[in-house]
Amino acid sequence: MSDLSIVPNPPAALAADADPAFSLADLAAGRPVLWASDEAGDPASGGALHGISPADVDATVERLARFAPLLALLFPELDASAGRIESELVRAPRLQQALGMPEGFGTLLVKADHALPVAGSIKARGGIHEVLEHAEALALAHGLLAPGGDYRVLASPAARALFAAHQVAVGSTGNLGLAIGVMASALGFEAVVHMSADAKEWKKARLRKRGVEVVEHAGDYAEAVAAGRRAADADPRCHFVDDEQSRSLLLGYAAAAPHLARQLQALGRTVDAQHPLFVYLPCGVGGAPGGIAYGLAQIYGPHVHCFFAEPTRSPCFLVQMLAGTPVLAHLGSNPSVYDVGLDNRTEADGLAVPRASELAADVVRPLLGGVYTVEDEYMFRLLHTAAATASIRIEPSAAAGLAGPAMLRASAAGQAYLARRGLADRMAQSTHIAWTTGGLFVPDEEYERLHARGAAAAGAPGRPAGAAA
Ligand SMILES: *Cc1c(COP(=O)(O)O)cnc(C)c1O
Repeated sequence: MSDLSIVPNPPAALAADADPAFSLADLAAGRPVLWASDEAGDPASGGALHGISPADVDATVERLARFAPLLALLFPELDASAGRIESELVRAPRLQQALGMPEGFGTLLVKADHALPVAGSIKARGGIHEVLEHAEALALAHGLLAPGGDYRVLASPAARALFAAHQVAVGSTGNLGLAIGVMASALGFEAVVHMSADAKEWKKARLRKRGVEVVEHAGDYAEAVAAGRRAADADPRCHFVDDEQSRSLLLGYAAAAPHLARQLQALGRTVDAQHPLFVYLPCGVGGAPGGIAYGLAQIYGPHVHCFFAEPTRSPCFLVQMLAGTPVLAHLGSNPSVYDVGLDNRTEADGLAVPRASELAADVVRPLLGGVYTVEDEYMFRLLHTAAATASIRIEPSAAAGLAGPAMLRASAAGQAYLARRGLADRMAQSTHIAWTTGGLFVPDEEYERLHARGAAAAGAPGRPAGAAA
């Protein structure tokens, strides 16, 4: 069907060996690019710089298991999963076809974090983990919890009184605020979310309904974080969830990896030298894709190839990867997208970040496959295609991962990467995972608007998600 087929996001290759002036010109002009890394280091070395080890991922998985009974008690939607917050890994053959991905290039799977319960986005992983880790530390310190005890005691009046005397705060473009606000308020914490100007009204309204204090800032994401950090510094009872520097957040994301490995096994997908795994992860500040890439690299080593997806006008992680290389050497160690002449304006609110997390950049540098950028209009088209071919309801940010296979296949930089790693003749047996990172709680009215825009961009009649295509 012609209205479902996808014209590849024009991949102007940003190869390491391309003319740097030309590459930078494409990036700075907001044209889609793919940059592939030529580093292949020890996958644990980046974490080690910040005191993060593979054992920390195991400890995080164990912490989430300890909290599962409490979460099942607090959130009825977690009954079925006994308190585990996880998403499905699904095959999507019609979507694969619509994306123009031939079977000879591998098999497409979708990691459905757009439907993660409680928070409705990938932020349920990192955000909720950090609130739980903080609650655990407080409860242990106050003798309300014995190591190895039943964590459901944290729903008791005594525990709630303790949490009510403490505050959890965060700066966010929306989704992290939702995850932190919902989890903190469910435990009884006072919760404050500093929202950037990009944050959608419905996300603010949803939080206020839960009794979360929403502080609106006129500036961008980095300014909302800075304002939140300042307010929190002045208050010793306040724990500030720092999206740019938090180990706990990053580890919450990394904990997705062991579960994903079991899901791949259950689907009969092997990952080894003969069967490479490609993972396409929408990237904002870098914590979510960085944590997941770190976790996967500890399991699969050089056989997993993680590519991060960013909006063409907010490619902060790509800019960060280029910092210190001859292309951007003049911009210092932590440049922003404004420094290369971009405006950070995008409808992909979850990715509207001007400056990457240096923590995430350090952790990821030795193990990253690459970064590519996607135009907003193209994300809308992908949003429509996902609905029409797989009944998947996602927000624009979450669609960016779906552009990955075409970017890798159709760009000179992608082809060069596959050749360099000796993968070109192994693609037929490869697995590609597009991580759809958010969308569950987008209100129907808002979703119809997003979908109509995608349908118009695709030249298709507007159809609601799930309607017969
Ligand atoms: C936050 C977010 C991301 C990226 O996470 P970062 O940690 O900011 O890189 C991707 N998709 C959605 C929907 C998000 O909300």
